[in-house]
Amino acid sequence: MSFERPTIIRPPSEWKSYYLPVTSGCSNNTCTFCDYYGSKLRIREIGEVKKEIDALALYARHGICLPDIPNMVYAVARTWDGKRIFLQDGDALVYPFPRLKESLEYLNEKFPQLERVGIYATAQDVLRRSVDELRSLRELKLGIAYMGVESGDDEVLRKVGKGMDYHQMVGAGRKLKEAGITSSVTVILGLAGVEGSERHANATAKILSDIDPDYGGALTLTLVPGTPLYEEYQRGDFHPISPFRSLEELKVIVGNSNFTNCFFSSMHASNYFSIRGILPYDKEKMLKKLEDVLASKNPAFLRSEFLRGL
Ligand code: SF4
Repeated sequence: MSFERPTIIRPPSEWKSYYLPVTSGCSNNTCTFCDYYGSKLRIREIGEVKKEIDALALYARHGICLPDIPNMVYAVARTWDGKRIFLQDGDALVYPFPRLKESLEYLNEKFPQLERVGIYATAQDVLRRSVDELRSLRELKLGIAYMGVESGDDEVLRKVGKGMDYHQMVGAGRKLKEAGITSSVTVILGLAGVEGSERHANATAKILSDIDPDYGGALTLTLVPGTPLYEEYQRGDFHPISPFRSLEELKVIVGNSNFTNCFFSSMHASNYFSIRGILPYDKEKMLKKLEDVLASKNPAFLRSEFLRGL
């Protein structure tokens, strides 16, 4: 089966990066809330990856576009800052280790000015790699891994099909740290619905504190048609929380968190209200913002439903 270039789904902080596909789909395609649910994992041939790197280098240096290279390569290259690369797709750390290493070596050879390579990783991918392997990727400028933890509540993790429990997630987060790879961890407000909301918020504050990542991000659940969670909702078996309840969850997470030095934000477009700051230093300021909006009960302070994004 030939490799099909995946749609670009990337963390907001990678907006200036070049998006280089090494896989498509996700190896853990069982998360019931996710657009990647049921996706087929495809592994790209290393030859194809190198060919794209060659084309990118030719374009970056001489502005030459080759006829057999997809237009998308040049469309992305035009907005590239020349410093960062983001490896696609849903969990590109699953790319077989020798090929991942070879891709990074080739990127470093062609772009010595490269500052950082970023990647989505599942906890499974991280646990599969040894610390030494991760360190060698770090030496080749794999500088940041984005990992969706989603919840600290084992029951929620099991229900949504993450395939990992609390301790495994924490183990993966710590392993990244040990290897010197910056970790950016996300959690999902509302993932436990109305019934599990309180437990989810408390356990999520706890898992984030245990992982103690460099970056932490809250997203808010968006029910995606075609996913099992959406069907559950349609059947009346999943009860989504209200926008203000999502802020209550966020307040618990920020209030109960215990970080060393974490840039934490709810700036993602899925959220109803944005806060950001360095925790623990900005905790009081961030809590005050949330408390003020919650006390106002004024929907005008919230992002409109039609402006929310995935
Ligand atoms: S591991 Fe991540 S990308 Fe893969 S299905 Fe789950 S949430 Fe989606």
